[in-house]
Formats: sequence, C-alpha cells, structure tokens
Amino acid sequence: MDDSLSMLQALATTPCRAAHHAPSLGETSTSVPHLEVVVSLPTRLAATASPPARGRIYRACGCRDNRRRLYGPRCPVLAADPEHGSWAFAVDLPSPDGKRSTCRRTGHPTREAAEEALGLLLTGENTGVYADPHLRTGDYLEEWLAARRTTLQPTTWAGYHDSVQRFLLPAFAGIRLVNLRSRHIQEWQQSQLALRGRPTVYRAGSTLRAALQAAVRARRLPYNPALHAIIKRPTAAERTCWSPAQAAAFLRHNHTFHADQLADLFEVMLGTGMRRGEVLGLHWADVHLMDRNLGGPSCGTPWSWVVPGGVGCC
Ligand SMILES: [Zn+2]
Repeated sequence: MDDSLSMLQALATTPCRAAHHAPSLGETSTSVPHLEVVVSLPTRLAATASPPARGRIYRACGCRDNRRRLYGPRCPVLAADPEHGSWAFAVDLPSPDGKRSTCRRTGHPTREAAEEALGLLLTGENTGVYADPHLRTGDYLEEWLAARRTTLQPTTWAGYHDSVQRFLLPAFAGIRLVNLRSRHIQEWQQSQLALRGRPTVYRAGSTLRAALQAAVRARRLPYNPALHAIIKRPTAAERTCWSPAQAAAFLRHNHTFHADQLADLFEVMLGTGMRRGEVLGLHWADVHLMDRNLGGPSCGTPWSWVVPGGVGCC
C-alpha cells in the first residue's frame, strides 16, 4: 500500500515520465493544475475502497539464507515468482515504554486480505476491540462452550452444548466470526423454522446470541449480529396442575402397562414439582435425605418434599 502511495507521489512529481504516456487498461488518469499526469495502478488496488492509512503491505516468505536467517521480504525468489510466499503487513504501534514496537503478520493469501487484517488491527487500536480475522465461528463457539462449562449450571451448559453441536456448528462453523452478519442468522432461522419447532429454533438462536455477546464483552467483536436477529421467545402454553388422583392414576397406568423403571423419578417430580432438567441434573451431593430436601450448587434452587408419598403442584 505504502509502496503504491509513494509511487503515486513520485509519479505526480515527475511529469516528464508520465506526460507522453497514453492511458491504457488498468490505469487511472489524475488531473493536476496545468498538467495531465497518468498514474499506473494495479487494477485490483485501484478497486480497493479505502486501504488503511498506516502500516505497509508486502510479500514475504519462510526461506532462510546459509546462516539460517529468514529472508522475509528480501527473498530473491519473491521477485521472480508471483506465487512465492504470502502477503504480510507491518505497522508501528505505540508501546507503554515509548519505544517503537512493530507488529508484523504474514500468511495472507492476497494483498486485499492483508489490508483487511491491517484495517482490523488499526480499528482495534482505536476502539479497544480486536476482532481476529482468522477465527472461525465454529472454533469460537467450541472455545466459548469449554470456557463456560465450569461457570454454568450443568443443565444450562448441556442445553448450550446441544444447540451448538446440533444446530449452530452445521450452519456457521466455517464462517469467519468477523464476517457473521444478521442476515446469515435470519436466513438460517427461517430455514430451521420450516424443519422444527419454534421453541427449538429459539433456544439455538438465543445460545448463539449469548455466545456472541460474550465475544462483545471480551472486546473480540465490535457488535453482536444476533442481538436483534433472533425470533421472540415463544410463549409457553398455560399449565394446569394434576390433582392427587390424576397423579396416582398416571403412576398406576405406567406401572401396569409399561413396567415403568422410572417410576421413582416420576414420584420425585410429582412430590417436589421439579422440572425434567432439574431432576436429571441432580447430583448425589444435592440429595439431603435427613433434611428432606433436594438441591445444591449444581441444582440452583433447593426443593423440599411436600408430603411424604404425596403430590406436589406445578
Ligand atoms: Zn522465499
């Protein structure tokens, strides 16, 4: 980028080289007072909207000299072979001790990719947000899940894990996180609504929203593309409580016709009012038989027996 800019400046100040040159394909004509100056620019660079104002873009490779030192941008093969090496950027960043600190990143397939990465780095420097241009959404979601495992309730984490594995990774794993947009999420939701229930789609979408919000909080994304893209939470149907007679009939029916091995589990649910996820998420440490209650750190709410052998409500 800087090379092209300096070339532009050099040509603008040396009219004798350019004055007799007729414009051809891929060239830009620039008017300056009293002089028509023709500037040769690579077509693809001319098409770039606004390259970053700082730093420089160059090609580099991993070749080494006889003393095992990296050639970097000085490799002789780079000039002969346009496919050799990759695009890189370097930019000076302020450092706490006031000394010059140069940030270099190589491995970009094209000049435009290197410019984009440099632009993101400079935006990060200005705003405090650094969005890694290489990070895939799938890798981020896996990382987020692993980090939340110790801080979430086991049942909540299991729900997130299920949504990520079944719905989010198949849809978004390959998209770079910085390129994920609201329209991607909305299109995915519409396709999902044709296949499965609204609560399932909402649950997967709200998992994505929570994961991306964590990235915003960690200043790894400038904004959350899922924030306003997720469908509204479906309203739950109104629930009615079973009477003790209905609950007893349910248990008797299960026992008679299904030889139900989960009868104890159903009795606990009926006796305490615990939900399915809560009762399945119970650990032995949560079971306090002498205190007649269930609950603890992994369960959240303590649940007490209502009546021995009796029936709870809701
Ligand atoms: Zn080389």
